[in-house]
Amino acid sequence: MKDYEVVIGLEVHAQLRTATKMFCTCKADYGDLPNRHTCPVCLGMPGTLPVVNRQAVVLALRAARALDCKVNPHSCFDRKNYFYPDLPKGYQITQFRKPICEHGHLTIALANGDDKRVGITRIHMEEDAGKDLHLEGLPESFVDFNRCGVPLIEIVSEPDLRSADEAVAYLKELRNILRFLDVCDGNMDEGSFRCDANVSVMPRGSATYGTRAEVKNVNSFRFVAKAIEYEVKRQIDLLEAGGKVVQETRLFDSREGVTRSMRGKEEAHDYRYFPEPDLLDLTDIDVLQAEAHQDFPLLPAQLRARFRELGLPPYDAEVLSADKDIARWFLDLVTQVKNPKAASNWVMTEVLGYLNREKKTLGEFPVPQAELALLINAADQGRVSVTRAKEFFGRMLAEGLAASKLLDEGGAQVDDQDALLTVCRAVASEFPDELGRYLGGKEGLVAFFVGQVMKRTQGKANPRVLPTLMKQALEEKRA
Ligand code: ADP
Ligand code: MG
Ligand code: ZN
Repeated sequence: MKDYEVVIGLEVHAQLRTATKMFCTCKADYGDLPNRHTCPVCLGMPGTLPVVNRQAVVLALRAARALDCKVNPHSCFDRKNYFYPDLPKGYQITQFRKPICEHGHLTIALANGDDKRVGITRIHMEEDAGKDLHLEGLPESFVDFNRCGVPLIEIVSEPDLRSADEAVAYLKELRNILRFLDVCDGNMDEGSFRCDANVSVMPRGSATYGTRAEVKNVNSFRFVAKAIEYEVKRQIDLLEAGGKVVQETRLFDSREGVTRSMRGKEEAHDYRYFPEPDLLDLTDIDVLQAEAHQDFPLLPAQLRARFRELGLPPYDAEVLSADKDIARWFLDLVTQVKNPKAASNWVMTEVLGYLNREKKTLGEFPVPQAELALLINAADQGRVSVTRAKEFFGRMLAEGLAASKLLDEGGAQVDDQDALLTVCRAVASEFPDELGRYLGGKEGLVAFFVGQVMKRTQGKANPRVLPTLMKQALEEKRA
């Protein structure tokens, strides 16, 4: 392994979230009963004409902006010819000569904390094929054309990735971005987001890349990592044994964790690409671009940066930026709390814990944000212990009680020694001069600190235990 360098480039197919198909008005809803959403256009009947779906172009342009691509003012469609039962026209309409955009990049965070910039070669628009069904026990095969003609973008990366981990980081980031933008639902099980991994190895330090094998349509992050790792080992073993890697298309068998040769790698000229004669080129792109840039959200990387500015650790930044709604909600919450890290702990454990447990969305979260903020602040400032606050949180969820009521009721903190000690510690740190004099022998100053704690707790601290706790807090400072 250590004598070789791994080179990976990814091609991702992402299904665009449009209501209708790429070139006809059929619903782009392929989960339905087979062949419910078909028409002469997407079934490739002679004499029919395609019309470009405007919204698909707008969504592609959103992806273009997120990946910093250069948009071509003038792009065009081409026919890619091949025969397959799920492709009734005998060709796929795609963009070959001039894609909608090129030359972008995506920045990923590596495990060691560094950022890495991965080049995006191009994004082009195309239509999906149908789906062959080979049902167990039946002698014949079936074809479902619901997916035929559904709009896709293909995002092609430069061969910039150097390990399975980097490839997975890239895919996760890309999927997140497309979801944030409402460009693609990112559902890998249903194939709305799928990946071809191109893998090669070369002697470390070599100036030229090795021959690549392409592993087709891998549909989970775990499988992508496994497929790449398998390929790397296979290719190195092959080279070490004096063999040669051949350029070919392979399939990943997820049950056995191996890749197998599917066919020799076709070249562009095999497809006999030619300009699609039934479609005009895409012009006036700036009008669509203006539309694409509306409601452009903060992207995961921007959110991570914002969270880091708030002083949150990388882990928190990662968790909170994984979902657009959570991120936005958290940024609102943070404006109402004194300590962002305290808020982050509460959201990651309590709020997300509750949502996961109850299988609810943030929209269904029953506690108003201001109420939660009140509770977080109270716990953070030691007006109530964290344990007690979590108890209150449970009652707010279950009984719909208000935080202010729970906090006020009978001076929640009177007997709560943990909470009192927290306040004592805070107060001890807050008055360094008095603390110094106390530590220097002026023991009478305990009364001063006790007074401060009383003020802070609005007189609700239990006076029987307070002096002892205050002394304890002051003595801790001696260490
Ligand atoms: P094709 O459609 O023939 O697979 P594309 O140009 O669409 O060709 O995609 C090629 C992909 O393969 C790109 O993601 C590119 O980064 C990657 N790639 C090219 N050369 C290598 C290589 N030697 N090793 C690994 N990946 C490569
Ligand atoms: Mg390819
Ligand atoms: Zn149709």
